[in-house]
Amino acid sequence: MDQEYDVIIVGGGHAGCEAAAAAARAGARSLLVTHKKTTIGEMSCNPAIGGLGKGHLVREIDALDGLMGRVIDKAGIQFLMLNRRKGPAVRGPRAQADRQLYRAAMQREISSIDGLDVVEGGVDDIVTSDFGSVSGVRLEDGRVYATKSVVLTTGTFLRGLIHIGDERIPAGRVGDAPALGLSERLYDAGLRMGRLKTGTPPRLSARSIEWSGLKEQPGDNPPVPFSFMSERIDVPQISCFLTATTEETHKIIADNINRSAMYSGQIEGVGPRYCPSIEDKIVKFADRSSHQIFLEPEGLDDDTIYPNGISTSLPEEVQWKYVRSIPGLENAEILQPGYAIEYDYVDPRELSSSLECKKIPGLFLAGQINGTTGYEEAAAQGLMAGLNAARKIKQKDAVYLDRADAYIGVMIDDLVTRGVSEPYRMFTSRAEYRLTLRADNADQRLTSLGREWSLVGDARWAAYKNKAQALDVSRETMTNLRMTPNEAKRAGLNVNLDGVRRSALDYLAYPDIELSDLKNIWPELSSIRPDVAEQLEIDARYSGYLDRQKADIAAFKRDENLTLPADVDYGQVHGLSNEVRMKLATHKPATLGQAARIDGVTPAALTLLLAWVKRKDVPLTKDGAA
Ligand code: FAD
Repeated sequence: MDQEYDVIIVGGGHAGCEAAAAAARAGARSLLVTHKKTTIGEMSCNPAIGGLGKGHLVREIDALDGLMGRVIDKAGIQFLMLNRRKGPAVRGPRAQADRQLYRAAMQREISSIDGLDVVEGGVDDIVTSDFGSVSGVRLEDGRVYATKSVVLTTGTFLRGLIHIGDERIPAGRVGDAPALGLSERLYDAGLRMGRLKTGTPPRLSARSIEWSGLKEQPGDNPPVPFSFMSERIDVPQISCFLTATTEETHKIIADNINRSAMYSGQIEGVGPRYCPSIEDKIVKFADRSSHQIFLEPEGLDDDTIYPNGISTSLPEEVQWKYVRSIPGLENAEILQPGYAIEYDYVDPRELSSSLECKKIPGLFLAGQINGTTGYEEAAAQGLMAGLNAARKIKQKDAVYLDRADAYIGVMIDDLVTRGVSEPYRMFTSRAEYRLTLRADNADQRLTSLGREWSLVGDARWAAYKNKAQALDVSRETMTNLRMTPNEAKRAGLNVNLDGVRRSALDYLAYPDIELSDLKNIWPELSSIRPDVAEQLEIDARYSGYLDRQKADIAAFKRDENLTLPADVDYGQVHGLSNEVRMKLATHKPATLGQAARIDGVTPAALTLLLAWVKRKDVPLTKDGAA
């Protein structure tokens, strides 16, 4: 053994960085092993963070003192709040990143973490003890590091295979070798695994694009930071531009469709339905004569343009042809052809909610290896896996976020109870309690939990308490300021004269009354900080719905708190069908709520299960009280 660590994280991508940071913050002496230090924080595909659902994940990571929010605030060159005109539950912060600034900011964060070492190398094997639990990792060059907790975050590298037309190149992503030994090791351990695929568009030279006729898409002014700790964005901001495919583009692609790796039958993996390749769009939406393309600069000081919307696995010469059929791109130079990549993933139903592998104690998996796609999904899993890996070493119970706590909880629950049939990405529609799980209130939901789990440092904790106190004081002030409808009418508010004297907070619940209207009546409200004002406005406006959601959440928590012992013999539970028995035995749900979310487990089966567990006299709740 070369050295011993509490936790070893394999892979310095988005999951790995958060896992390493969380493990070290939780007090574990940690080691990050990754192929190259220079690719720590690399964005393999599009240089952007956030978006619908994904932006919520970043705010939650940030509320738990993770890295992604603060890093994008140091690297974002165009910030946009998506769905700004829709309800607050579905607003999604997004930022275009300068790829180099992002990498540099992430590398600075990683190198400044106490208790975290970083070494370069490829991990080839997970070493296990005679009892099958993790005891270390072996690198390709023979080095061995000892540990009882490993977090694997190898992204698209497990038996990664790039396809460009009929050309196939073994790789984890362009320019990086694949991980072969590790994949074999996981298959040999009997884990259920499969193949997925994703793709990326050709990169274009900005200098070769004719920008003058294209529609400009500026960002928000002022840009709204991701991190609750960032006061403002200091990075210079740029615009993106819009163009679209033409009928000629579609014809070129249709004429060559059989040369696309996907359509020639060469790719066996399933791709992300919500992020289709241009070939897919043309085949599946044959009636459309045009598809939008966002031309996104990859950096302030970078000639590379990422044409968002035309990922492909067509041969390079066809890519040149179709790109040049697009307005503004008639003379475009391709800097790097688009490609598809296939890779192995582990069926996430092999994991418990702590992201630990049920068959290999001490092995945690996070990120693309679990069948997800996207930097934010990877980072969120990394944070929870790193934290739980550290807790395991310290002999503390695993911790979870559930579906009513956070989008992170929704995603992990979806993965471990339902598995994936295509690359999983986050959407707001996946969450049942959207109005409660907003991007704007992630700190209120999670920061004190993060502090309890030793994740949240002193600076964030002080800032959080400061804001929480300002919220309390402002809420109290607004509850104490009262006026009759007659007085309100005289002050210019549009209210019914029903004689009920109401507080400023009650008036804020009216759809056409804004905080600015109330400030004219009560000038003392002008001193409320903008972030607190936003929270008060949303909470007041949606108070009726939020109260109803609270009741739903209480019912959900009741089932979620009913834990099922890991060793239930489902064959002994009378009345269950064989199909349900098999599903429960395979998935090993941790709670009655999780059992309910397994496909095919009916309410009748749940009643039988509950009755059986009660008869067996096992403690039913998380704190042991039946
Ligand atoms: P990665 O970011 O891939 O990081 C893996 C890290 O592990 C790397 O640093 C690698 O060097 C290291 N590593 C791997 N194996 C070993 C080993 N054996 N030993 C040591 N280190 C190792 N996402 C989207 O949301 N939309 C898209 O359209 C999209 N398109 C994509 C297209 C391509 C071509 C690729 C490659 C990815 C795409 N993605 C897309 C996915 C996105 O890049 C990933 O979801 C995200 O990077 C996953 O993060 P991760 O931390 O799991 O893995």
